Amino acid sequence: MNKLTKRLLKRHLKEGFDLDSISKLVDAFSETIDQYEQDRLMLERSLMLTSDELNEINDTLRHRITEIQNNQDLLKHQAYHDSLTALPNRTNIMHTIHHALALAKRHQQKCAILFIDLDDFKKINDTAGHSEGDRFLIEVSKRLQSILRESDTLGRLGGDEFIIILENIASGSQITEVYNRALRSLSTPFIIDGNPYVVSCSIGISNFPQDGETVEELIRKADLAMYQAKKLGKNRFHYFDESLERLAIHRVKTEESLREAIENNEFVLYYQPKIQINQQQETLVGVEALIRWKKEDGSLIFPDSFIPIAEKCGLIRNLTKWVITEACRQLKRWKNTSLANIPISVNISAIDIADHGFVDSTLSILKNYDTPGHLINLELTESVFFDDMNTVNFKLGELHNNNLTISLDDFGTGYSSLSYIQDLQIDFLKIDKSFIFGMSKNKKSLAIVKSIIDLGNNLGLTVIAEGVETAEDKEILINANCHIAQGYLYSRPIEAGELEEIYRK
Ligand code: C2E
Ligand code: CA
Ligand code: CA
Repeated sequence: MNKLTKRLLKRHLKEGFDLDSISKLVDAFSETIDQYEQDRLMLERSLMLTSDELNEINDTLRHRITEIQNNQDLLKHQAYHDSLTALPNRTNIMHTIHHALALAKRHQQKCAILFIDLDDFKKINDTAGHSEGDRFLIEVSKRLQSILRESDTLGRLGGDEFIIILENIASGSQITEVYNRALRSLSTPFIIDGNPYVVSCSIGISNFPQDGETVEELIRKADLAMYQAKKLGKNRFHYFDESLERLAIHRVKTEESLREAIENNEFVLYYQPKIQINQQQETLVGVEALIRWKKEDGSLIFPDSFIPIAEKCGLIRNLTKWVITEACRQLKRWKNTSLANIPISVNISAIDIADHGFVDSTLSILKNYDTPGHLINLELTESVFFDDMNTVNFKLGELHNNNLTISLDDFGTGYSSLSYIQDLQIDFLKIDKSFIFGMSKNKKSLAIVKSIIDLGNNLGLTVIAEGVETAEDKEILINANCHIAQGYLYSRPIEAGELEEIYRK
């Protein structure tokens, strides 16, 4: 009822009704009723409209929500799984171990982490290409998965690294069984695109609770143990123990002091003579520069205890540059002495050669010191050729073009593939000292030494024997047609000053 109608009704109730006022009131009432009816209809219509619209909106929303949920599931899967093998990824593994540890703590159970790294996987990638490498990794993940119980988890950390989490372990034999099965599962060749591939793996194991209480600690320790397995010859397992931790700490400390030593110039080069033995008179035909770390207290540290660490942390590049620079300086100092024109051999590590800037930086050092290329010889081991034979050969070619010479060091200990020495641009073959040490008593060593000498001579290479300690060794080598000898028989590695004394005319 509107206000006007209300007022009229009030007045007439007080004053009494006449016909006119009643008809006015009826009009007013019917108007109000009309209004109500209109409002009702409008409301009804708008309600109907809205519910239709709402239905439509509802449908769209429902669809969108499913879509979002699907996307979320996909994202979640991607965030927690490795895209190549669909195995749990690093994040997922961390979560799983975290969860497993919490459970194990609550129920006083044991867990183990197996850190698996494929041996020489890089070779497959390099020889067969990356897509074959990827397929290979998928196959590996399937084989590893197939050896596990449902309660065990396999994940991929990245690259060729996998993790197995063993929960609720009743006895150590359970771990033994898993790593044995893992090692065995890879031992049958993989056939990919019709080609057989063989790869092994190294496994490091850490145990909860004895080796650590946190995810990070257990993974780190399993990783350390895996490295030890590699070091001991690959294709094997190794349990974490405290000595590995001490070793790791030692490595970090050595790395720090190596950095400082490079800055403080704490290194010296010792030189060991190379003697021509196939002529009437023995003559000095070269020296090998061997690095030593001279501590403040005067004590010497030998390269075997710091070169591997320098290689691991990349400091070797700085060291090698220093060695080449120092060799060039030394050649300059010897320029007008009896040691003039005696080439210096420098040991180069595989990491140096792999470095893109190696050739340029070496040549620029030589240029800075006016060093003629033929006075620098680079000693490389076969490991430098694992990377990419063609690239390495190209680099050797560039060095050759600048008159530097190349020796293949430690020959006989690595793969000693004959194709290397046939295809590579090398000038000298150095027989590893382990064969020289044995040859006077061991017929097999002697046979190997003689064969290497023949091989080298036939290929037009100059053969050098290192580790020559006795006159007997020397006689054998001369008879076998070896041209150059190096070893304690002639001299230990000595400082430049001492060498100058000996060879002063
Ligand atoms: P290598 O290149 O095979 O060097 C020969 C090693 O045998 C030297 O040990 C040398 O002192 C030792 N040696 C020489 N003659 C005899 C002998 O008649 N009998 C015995 N028992 N040993 C002999 P060193 O100086 O301790 O060097 C060890 C290794 O460290 C070298 O083996 C080389 O691989 C590496 N190295 C040395 N200097 C450098 C360097 O400047 N850079 C790099 N990357 N590695 C280096
Ligand atoms: Ca050498
Ligand atoms: Ca050697």
